[in-house]
Amino acid sequence: MAAPPTPDGTSARVLDARAADVGGFAVRRALPRVGMRTVGAWCFADHMGPEVVTETSGLDVGPHPHIGLQTVTWLVEGSVRHTDSLGSDQLIRPGQLNLMTAGHGIVHAEESVRARGTLHGVQLWIAQPEQTRHGPSSFSHLADLPVVDVGHGNATVMIGDYARAESAAAVDTPLMGVDFDLQAGASTHSLRSDFEYAVYVVHGRARVDGTVVAEGQLLDLRRHPAELLVETLEPTRLLLLGGLPLGEPLTMWWNFVGRSREEIATAATDWAAYVDSGASASDVVERFATVDTALAPIPAPALG
Ligand code: MN
Repeated sequence: MAAPPTPDGTSARVLDARAADVGGFAVRRALPRVGMRTVGAWCFADHMGPEVVTETSGLDVGPHPHIGLQTVTWLVEGSVRHTDSLGSDQLIRPGQLNLMTAGHGIVHAEESVRARGTLHGVQLWIAQPEQTRHGPSSFSHLADLPVVDVGHGNATVMIGDYARAESAAAVDTPLMGVDFDLQAGASTHSLRSDFEYAVYVVHGRARVDGTVVAEGQLLDLRRHPAELLVETLEPTRLLLLGGLPLGEPLTMWWNFVGRSREEIATAATDWAAYVDSGASASDVVERFATVDTALAPIPAPALG
């Protein structure tokens, strides 16, 4: 099933994540892409770090809103404090999952813990379907996810199910996300014929379905075989993301996932009122309540 190589020897299915900045922290953005906006309901993927955090520099993402999506935070190294407008205050460490559901609206802040060390992880967004995207917000921290032995390493089931192990994380569409921590070797993995998939390499290098994918690269597996062959020549960390094609065109802007420009503009207006109101935000904007953090709210960019 491997696509023919392009003239320069690379595969057309391999995409380099692009550099971006979130709260002063360097990230590599793998999704969305031109030509690949979503993989199942996965609509956004940021690879954070690895970068050294100190007492004075690190991840500083002040209060900001979300609508219509779930955020999945997953760390490889370091720790991050999450606070939100539901009153959650949660430290997350490697092997644990933070799942925040925005629905009609939520506000949260994310900050690296101020002890010197490396911070490395991913933040993924899941688009909520029409049935739930106007619903209530929620937050859950899952400290005990299923881990499956795949021979040359382990697979942690973050979302959905894999090899008869199921994550307790609640999502609204058929979806899966698995983190493979692999040594050199080879393994095969059953894929669902009704799912589309992508592989993102967090660290190392692998040959996946015959195509070499290195750190910071995304492999398009929307068309895929029934059995996925993964071969590694060195220690490699990779994510397999998959799901039923969403079938709903999304309008994504800044931290909002909606279906129309009008809807996004309304959320932007609500957020501007929040930022302008300062400490009494919850009194003026019904869907965006205050967050217990010392960081200042982040204004939205101009809606062009
Ligand atoms: Mn956020």
